[in-house]
Amino acid sequence: MLIQITIGSLDSSWTLHLFNMSSFCVQKSREEKEFEEEDGGFPHLDNGDGTVQPIGEPLRSPFHEGTVGVIQTLVLREHKLVWNSSARTWTDSKRVLHQHVNAVPFNLLGVNKAFVRVLCPLEATGPNMEIVHEKFHQANYGFTDLTGQYLCGEKPKGHLETEEMLKVGASLTAVGELILDTDGLPKIRPPTDGSEYFLSTDGFETLRLEQEGKAGVFRVLACVCALAGVALLMWAGRRYYRQLKLWWEQENMRSEFELMGAGEEENGVEVPENVCVICLSNPRGCVLLDCGHVCCCFHCYQALPQPICPICRQNIKRVVPLYQA
Ligand SMILES: [Zn+2]
Ligand SMILES: [Zn+2]
Repeated sequence: MLIQITIGSLDSSWTLHLFNMSSFCVQKSREEKEFEEEDGGFPHLDNGDGTVQPIGEPLRSPFHEGTVGVIQTLVLREHKLVWNSSARTWTDSKRVLHQHVNAVPFNLLGVNKAFVRVLCPLEATGPNMEIVHEKFHQANYGFTDLTGQYLCGEKPKGHLETEEMLKVGASLTAVGELILDTDGLPKIRPPTDGSEYFLSTDGFETLRLEQEGKAGVFRVLACVCALAGVALLMWAGRRYYRQLKLWWEQENMRSEFELMGAGEEENGVEVPENVCVICLSNPRGCVLLDCGHVCCCFHCYQALPQPICPICRQNIKRVVPLYQA
């Protein structure tokens, strides 16, 4: 028989299943309570002290005799100084050389022997594990190494060896999907609906506040994005409106000129053909040589700043009056 209860978000306490090992209380949804009444339900987990308990052999710390746990992370980090040529200083740099994570199956155990098995603990967010060992191995180097380091711009500082452990007996809060497996054991596992799976050593209240804080930040970000979107839309709309207005004004002006032109033609008012191209009032009265253009009146010819034909830009060598018969 497989019993599955889906865990909702942390915001909704009605759909949240929580195992807190320090108090070992289970917050149940209405449906679950009804279900328990009908079916006998999950083992009843009353308030009481609870601990992380390995199912088989626990993991042993290679550095500290007697320190045992259920999740163990061993990390070796390299620390070095790297020459930053733009800032002209040595800056700290570190990278993980080696990381190894071990885990053994474990239960969360209550006072009255009630327990729940934690499945896939490495897939969970958290827990913040206790650092049980930390040792820095200083790098040793001679004079030739120093010269090499200055040339390649890297100075090794040493290696930091760290061991973190979720110890046996630690208080742990698990938030995930609670199932009653085919072997009759209650188990908690990563939610199948894709919700986040949490293991926390800080207690449920801290976890809830953390998640609420994150949700608040996302809410603010969403508001900022929405406002920015509205501002962008308004800016684009305004710009489009201005362009439309300009086009409309130009169109109006063009149609007015067209009307005017049509009116002039209708009225028989037109510019005479042989009028001076400069003053547009006197008749053309002189021939510019050598180009031979007849384009302006004598008065305008005299007013030219340089003796250059206004049509073809050739030098005017001579001017002769034009006599039309
Ligand atoms: Zn003229
Ligand atoms: Zn000319």
